[in-house]
Amino acid sequence: MPHTVLLAEPRGFCAGVVRAINVLDQVLDQVIDGAQEPVYAFHEIVHNRYVVDDFRSRGAIFVEDVSEVPAGARIVFSAHGVAPAVVQAARDRGLRIIDATCPLVTKVHLETKKAARDGFDVLLVGHEGHDEVEGTKGEALEHTRVVDTPRDVQALAEGGRPIFVVTQTTLSVDDTAATIDAIRDRYPDAEVRNDICYATTNRQAAVKVIAERADLVIVIGSRNSSNSVRLREVAAATGTPSYRVDGIEEIDPAWYEGVGIVGLTAGASVPDTLLQPVIDDLRARGVTRVEPVIVAEETVEFRMPEEIDASPASPTL
Ligand code: SF4
Repeated sequence: MPHTVLLAEPRGFCAGVVRAINVLDQVLDQVIDGAQEPVYAFHEIVHNRYVVDDFRSRGAIFVEDVSEVPAGARIVFSAHGVAPAVVQAARDRGLRIIDATCPLVTKVHLETKKAARDGFDVLLVGHEGHDEVEGTKGEALEHTRVVDTPRDVQALAEGGRPIFVVTQTTLSVDDTAATIDAIRDRYPDAEVRNDICYATTNRQAAVKVIAERADLVIVIGSRNSSNSVRLREVAAATGTPSYRVDGIEEIDPAWYEGVGIVGLTAGASVPDTLLQPVIDDLRARGVTRVEPVIVAEETVEFRMPEEIDASPASPTL
């Protein structure tokens, strides 16, 4: 049975997620003209079931379309960003927008928009249908194509314009390198921006290190969390059995049979509180050593959006 837990560092919340959660938290607590107004959130504020359920229990109303929001109401855009068409639709309804898009996602939007304006065809390396990809693509719909794998690159029709490459922020570092290599093979003059963010890069580096020492890796994170899913894939690529679970209730104790060292990490949208029950349970099963494995130190912090000020009752909303 397990005797040791290797805890990946960094793991869990990144600066963009902390900011988005703080934004929704503050907006929910705001009292305007002596009353608390409803707060709508466009898409899941971050891709974690527990975080979203907690906000829902506090009154946040999650919607998939701005047409579901009453005219004039407040709407918070998630960390993953939204397409300009969504912003326009919200404005057309007179919604009061609070934008919690991660600044690193906003940077990819700006690169995409500028490249299309400068005459490029944009190749967006990412997963079609993901909230972030939909938002970024929306900056230049006519000039942006999404590619995921080297095979997608080979299948591209000629566009006739020079190529500019941007990426989703939460991709697998190794898989993306292969896709970018395929793009460079086909378009040697392509201008390439690799936008995988610091948090994704660091968490993948850390999980790789623990997976190489562990007999089993558990990644805490939701199924729709791109970076959590990638963490499991990166761990599994080392040959170590690896599972992604939302929380302790999804862990099958049979996984621990014949396992001495368990590696544990969490996606960028996962509160650290979800790891503690797993560690406590492993201690009860005989683990005597919990070893942090520090691969990188993170000091990144993002300023709150302009729509929010330090006061809990911002008059700007
Ligand atoms: Fe921003 Fe990266 Fe966190 Fe996404 S994973 S919210 S891009 S810091």
